[in-house]
Amino acid sequence: MDCLFCKIVNGDIPSTKVYEDEKVLAFRDINPQAPTHILVIPKEHIPSVDGINADNSAVVAHIFECIPKIAAAEGLTNGYRVVSNCGDDACQSVKHLHFHILGGKQLADTMA
Ligand code: AMP
Ligand code: ZN
Repeated sequence: MDCLFCKIVNGDIPSTKVYEDEKVLAFRDINPQAPTHILVIPKEHIPSVDGINADNSAVVAHIFECIPKIAAAEGLTNGYRVVSNCGDDACQSVKHLHFHILGGKQLADTMA
């Protein structure tokens, strides 16, 4: 499958990893929108939030267990934002489920 994030999971494309376990990978966004900008992805290919279902939601729960640990390791003690763009209206550019962790500054008060 021609998926950028599957290639990162497989090590075919390099990334700056900040966390990894058997199910999840987190790495720094190549075009950071905040001082800390990390992407957290399932290692299995799920196209977007729209692809979450009863068969694969355990990995999503696991991602949300990892996020506070990653945020703490990054020193985001004053808060952070978690975002997942789903589909064209949300400008999803990589069709492999990912959650952005954004922090390290006062973020915009608007989301859209
Ligand atoms: P989205 O627009 O929500 O699909 O987010 C995709 C994100 O992937 C963007 O913030 C990109 O900057 C980021 N990105 C694209 N290619 C890479 C890469 N090779 N390594 C790290 N982040 C990437
Ligand atoms: Zn993929």
